[in-house]
Amino acid sequence: MKYYTEPARELPVAGEYDVIIAGAGPAGASAAIMAGRLGARVLLLEQNNAVGGMSTSGLMSHWTGTVDSPLYAKILERCAAANEGAEQGKIVPWIDPEALKSVWLDLLREAGVSVLLYTFVCGVIKQNDRVTGVITESKSGRRVFLAKITIDGTGDGDVAAFAGAAHWKGREADGKMQPCTLMFKVAGVDLDRAVLLGSFESKHWTEKGELQALAREHIPAPAGHLLVYRSPLPGIVTCNMTNCTDVDGTRAEDLTRAELICRTQMPAIVRYLRGYVPGFERCYVISAGSMMGVRETRRFAGEQTLTEEDILTARQFDDWVVRGAHFNFDVHNLTGAGLDPTGVQHAWSQPAGYTIPYGCLIPKNLEGLLLAGRNISGTHLAHSNYRVMPICAGIGAAAGAAAALAVRHGVGLREIRVDEIQAAL
Ligand SMILES: Cc1cc2nc3c(=O)[nH]c(=O)nc-3n(C[C@H](O)[C@H](O)[C@H](O)COP(=O)(O)OP(=O)(O)OC[C@H]3O[C@@H](n4cnc5c(N)ncnc54)[C@H](O)[C@@H]3O)c2cc1C
Repeated sequence: MKYYTEPARELPVAGEYDVIIAGAGPAGASAAIMAGRLGARVLLLEQNNAVGGMSTSGLMSHWTGTVDSPLYAKILERCAAANEGAEQGKIVPWIDPEALKSVWLDLLREAGVSVLLYTFVCGVIKQNDRVTGVITESKSGRRVFLAKITIDGTGDGDVAAFAGAAHWKGREADGKMQPCTLMFKVAGVDLDRAVLLGSFESKHWTEKGELQALAREHIPAPAGHLLVYRSPLPGIVTCNMTNCTDVDGTRAEDLTRAELICRTQMPAIVRYLRGYVPGFERCYVISAGSMMGVRETRRFAGEQTLTEEDILTARQFDDWVVRGAHFNFDVHNLTGAGLDPTGVQHAWSQPAGYTIPYGCLIPKNLEGLLLAGRNISGTHLAHSNYRVMPICAGIGAAAGAAAALAVRHGVGLREIRVDEIQAAL
């Protein structure tokens, strides 16, 4: 490969904060809200034009799984009030992404958080092993923002990777990652008659055949399943049906290939929906995610690492910072359509909520940096569970609380008392 040596240049320090959070997904936004509420001066940086990450820009259908988190409960409560459909005022998991964008912004504003959109975090500032800020690129140029504590809420763990934190990608045996999906919405659905299959293992027989089998037959591989979810808005359904395997979501080339492949699948999916799925005869596409749905990329080596056994035994760590987390092992087929053999949906039998210890948020060998969201320290199978948005929001709230307390006491992230984080949550 050829290289070009960029001339050294001085960068402006555009701001100094107690806590900087890179990435405004469910984890990053929750971290910012919690740190702001606890009195820290907080800056939330986001590459997109909206906050919410996959919950909004990714056009997500619904919150899946649960977590015991007052902040998550507050988000659902605000969404219930903001939803404009027939279910206004009711707590429902279905997401209206435009309403949720405003809910996130309101909560951030109320917590006194500064938000900077259209800003890509492209590097870190480090003094020895301590992360002391980030470098950003935007229309405003290349700049530096300094922080006492930085939180990586980028999903992919870009900041921790820039800082040189050790990490894994994909399943332990071969590094293969879960497939990507470009979410999209269709309107014109007759919801009174619509068959809304929301899991790979759900089946429905019509006079033309069984709907999952018809999807495999009529939608080009590696797509070929029916996963559709109602929304709070009349006649609008969210489709989790495009599918692209062998994508490394930390590579622009792979993300581009995924966009192109998912887009070519969409017309075939719509033809299938119109032709075979009751209620969808007159449906049409109204929008697709403005970010690729990347399920899995980097997971970091932390002071502690959550395993599938911890989840299966609903382990209760004394040093928990997330509790009451509950979901199944949601591994999409790593090589084709449908559920991976390691995935468990209908047969999931662990009813008790599990906990996530604080150490999963602390990357090894680094100071001043916390992980939040799907990038925390866990195994491939454990990740398939805690990657859902309610649990990521719970993780984010914990990271925000820990960061604010470290700043308040003027101590390192490893010196805070975990019972103080628990009390703050
Ligand atoms: C296709 C798909 C379907 C899913 N279905 C569901 C579901 O039905 N229910 C559910 O609860 N969960 C679902 N999930 C899981 C869930 O959406 C994600 O795992 C969760 O959103 C992760 O939260 P996060 O905050 O860690 O990351 P994200 O939501 O990915 O947010 C990361 C944010 O960081 C920003 N960012 C990234 N890099 C940078 C950078 N360098 N600089 C600045 N900003 C940056 C991104 O733009 C984004 O806003 C699904 C995921 C996918 C991909």
